[in-house]
Amino acid sequence: MLTLLPQFGIGAADLAAALLFMYGLYRMSSPVTAPSGIFVAGIGMAVAILASFLYAFNVGAAARPHLLVNVALAVVALGMGGGAAWWSGKKVAMTAMPQMVALYNGMGGGAAGAIAAVELFGNKAPGATGLIVTLLGALIGAVSLSGSLIAWAKLDGVIKQPVRVKGQQAFNGLVLLATLAVGVYIVAATQGNVSLVLAIPASIYLFFGCALVLGVLMTLPIGGADMPVVISIFNAFTGLAVGLEGFVLQNPALMIAGMVVGAAGILLTLLMAKAMNRSVANVIFSNFGNAPRHKQGNVKGSLKPTEAGDAGIAMRYASSVIIVPGYGLAVAQGQGKLFEFVKLLQAGGVAVKFAVHPVAGRMPGQMDVLLAEAGVPYDLIFQLEDINDQFASTDVALVIGANDVVNPAARTDKSSPIFGMPILNADKAKRVFVVKRGEGKGYAGIVNALFYADNCNMVYGDAQAVLIQMIEAVRGLGLPAAA
Ligand code: NDP
Repeated sequence: MLTLLPQFGIGAADLAAALLFMYGLYRMSSPVTAPSGIFVAGIGMAVAILASFLYAFNVGAAARPHLLVNVALAVVALGMGGGAAWWSGKKVAMTAMPQMVALYNGMGGGAAGAIAAVELFGNKAPGATGLIVTLLGALIGAVSLSGSLIAWAKLDGVIKQPVRVKGQQAFNGLVLLATLAVGVYIVAATQGNVSLVLAIPASIYLFFGCALVLGVLMTLPIGGADMPVVISIFNAFTGLAVGLEGFVLQNPALMIAGMVVGAAGILLTLLMAKAMNRSVANVIFSNFGNAPRHKQGNVKGSLKPTEAGDAGIAMRYASSVIIVPGYGLAVAQGQGKLFEFVKLLQAGGVAVKFAVHPVAGRMPGQMDVLLAEAGVPYDLIFQLEDINDQFASTDVALVIGANDVVNPAARTDKSSPIFGMPILNADKAKRVFVVKRGEGKGYAGIVNALFYADNCNMVYGDAQAVLIQMIEAVRGLGLPAAA
């Protein structure tokens, strides 16, 4: 009876955790319910961790002497990891979130790899099938760890340029084949099917080494504009690796959490690839090897600066305005002032809408979160496919801190790194104001022809400072609010 109770407790807790994960994920599908969704999933994770401690009641006699030390070590590790996560989560700026996501994702992959290492070095994986599943989890986890670290370095600006060399694709293929060959050797040698040419522990080190190198090589050549999809792929990898190791350990919480993360990561990857009009294979492989370097096309026209106040007043006299927020708005933390400006325009009878590009900012959904933070009602926020046709009949497009997501090169310039990505049709509005600090490029590092177009004026300055000037100018008009 006493041994059955923990068993029952583990099963019940795993089921509860799985349900909490799913319900949390379901609530995350809308910005309105997302905060509570994260809370619910967090409770699920706490339940799953508690369930892991129940395994302590079921350990065999041989492991019992180490039980207290191991539980103490687990508590210390949880305290250290939880403390570091709490501290970094509180401290991180919204604009640095993508780097943090990449880093945490890498840790997930690393954790799956570490579980696999314990199983492999301890020779605990049951039979050939168990060994193959463990190795598969180890491979995916290690690739996800080193690949995510490179993605972090790219997003954080530590690595500034994609690293591409001739024949890279073929070389990466060879590294993958070598890793798989070492894996096959480990399975065959452990089962006694081949004679030992390399000691098993040494071949396990070699296997992990190859997998880590593969993750680095895969990610180094990928360009900045493709990073969102890459992070999402590694997210799916991590989930898959955790799920596989959960299978090896016969731990349902790991299996469920891993599969949920893996499935969510795969769906997000496909959705983002669709938003950029790329296939996933194209994202991963197109930049490899001999991909042509992008030449900046000849941009016609000139940059035409205008004062923030003048732009603000022009929008007050317009009848419709579509606002395109981008990464720079998050940098400037201008969302509150932006909504204040919008309310002024609305009070004057101007119809205002927000157009959100799926990869605006530096992580999926960043603009939705930013606007929600400022209190912008959801019925003013439109996604690309729902608003793109409306620019042509709109008086003013206000592009604020955005660049790549309104770059017409994506439509016309085949050599552009963003060619094929659907963009917001801001250039089709009757008049365009672009707010940015200077002539800085967007994430993809390319010139934007929109800024030189006849219907476009540049408003230079930090987004928040510019909005303050626009608000002052419109208030200065002293116009009565529309009836
Ligand atoms: P971009 O990175 O293309 O452009 C941002 C612009 O904001 C810059 O040109 C910069 O110009 C301006 N800016 C920066 N700081 C300020 C400030 N304080 N005030 C005013 N302007 C400022 O942003 P977009 O949102 O248009 O596009 C996102 C890009 O990021 C895409 O290429 C996407 O693929 C990529 N990406 C997206 C991710 C995602 O998941 N959403 C993740 C990783 C990358 P200046 O310096 O002159 O001010």
